[in-house]
Amino acid sequence: MPLRLILVGPPGVGKGTQAALMEERLGVKPLSSGVIFRAEIEADTDLGQLAKSYIDRGELVPNGVTIQMMLKRLRSDEVRKKGFVLDGFPRTVRQAEALDVELETEDVSLDCVILLVVDDEVVVRRLAGRMGCTKCGEIYHSSNKPPRREGLCDKCNSQLLVRKDDNPETIRERLRVFREETAPVAEYYRAKGLLREVDAAGDAEEVYAEVTKGLPS
Ligand code: AMP
Repeated sequence: MPLRLILVGPPGVGKGTQAALMEERLGVKPLSSGVIFRAEIEADTDLGQLAKSYIDRGELVPNGVTIQMMLKRLRSDEVRKKGFVLDGFPRTVRQAEALDVELETEDVSLDCVILLVVDDEVVVRRLAGRMGCTKCGEIYHSSNKPPRREGLCDKCNSQLLVRKDDNPETIRERLRVFREETAPVAEYYRAKGLLREVDAAGDAEEVYAEVTKGLPS
């Protein structure tokens, strides 16, 4: 049975890193709403232009377009076959409800929702040194995981970029939005008995060991 998982947590907690490890080791398809939005911005699509104005301010992109974009991906043959790990979606209770309806229609269910927990100061430290590959999306950090060659991806040799929304002011706004809009999503899944909390203060491997503990094999 393919795994169907959700990673919930504040920006910079390591959702993308964990999703990439899960793809590599468990074969599940990572679906990151942030990555998909940034690809739309890069391609200068209508959706990308709309999303950019919200993302640059650290606000959420409206539910309607976000839900549509993610449900479309969930319906792909690849996701149906491999299962998924959602990273960054759902971020509001409305999105979680829409996802529930979709899963019911597809006659599948979630295995688990993992809430990654760290202090705000750790988040700010992690985001401050974060860089991502413009091509493959691999994530680096100036002190925790520096690339072998400065500014270039170890995996595909493409250029690394610091995200525009990883600046102190926008980070504060994103943390506020997380507390107000996304923390209730964790409670939504807790009430359904699906939530597992994982301490995400350790390094990526330590967190991965905790995250995958107890997952159905
Ligand atoms: P992330 O890469 O997950 O940090 O997302 C970057 C930005 O994309 C967020 O700060 C939001 O502006 C937007 N975004 C990502 N996922 C969602 C979502 N599920 N709902 C609304 N906006 C989102």
